[in-house]
Amino acid sequence: MLIFANLKSIEACKMKIDNISENIDEIGDNHVSSSAKNPLRKDAFEKTDEEKIALIQQDVQNILTTLGLDLEDDSLKGTPLRVAKMFVNESFAGLHPKRKPKASVFQNNYKYGEMLVEKNITVYSTCEHHLLPIVGRAHVAYISNGTVVGLSKMNRIVDYYAKRPQVQERLTMQIVAELQNALGTEDVACVIDAKHLCVNSRGIRDIESSTVTSEFGGKFKDKSIKREFLDYINMDTEF
Ligand SMILES: [Zn+2]
Repeated sequence: MLIFANLKSIEACKMKIDNISENIDEIGDNHVSSSAKNPLRKDAFEKTDEEKIALIQQDVQNILTTLGLDLEDDSLKGTPLRVAKMFVNESFAGLHPKRKPKASVFQNNYKYGEMLVEKNITVYSTCEHHLLPIVGRAHVAYISNGTVVGLSKMNRIVDYYAKRPQVQERLTMQIVAELQNALGTEDVACVIDAKHLCVNSRGIRDIESSTVTSEFGGKFKDKSIKREFLDYINMDTEF
């Protein structure tokens, strides 16, 4: 009877795991975002970067060993440490608030009252469902209400939020929220057009498709202002 009960609970457990993994697959392949904030643990910043690198190095080593790779091989020997450093210092560096770009704003002394667009900002991010690259371009715009930011600041903000495990919708919203905060205005917009390698290189393997997301704050919700912004994005930049 006891064995039967155990078998039953194992069976129930298996079913539960199957359900969970079905759910995970569904979320992953549909790229559904569940929160405007990256889901972080409370203890996310208790370990130092060095401690994280040491732990991740061990984890990557385990993955590669499990896959059957010989880590004594010259070519693979340095991979676990290399990947661990890359995760902490590069690919996911934007998880740590200490790396947030300083929001230095200036008075709009020249009284420029039109829209300012910073377009074709390169986006390198990572899909949080598959840990594969998202590569594309962000176009950011704002209308000053008295303060302005340095142009490269917009690139830095994009880069900071991109360097996290991400979903593109969340990234778009975070960029807009950050600039709204820094500039003290709702009138900020962002469009991102990006390729997700989890779609292009695996699964459906659609090399051509890209994903466009947008967030229009304040005046950018107005049809003609939105149109103006989108027209600027489409303009060819000649040198
Ligand atoms: Zn993905």
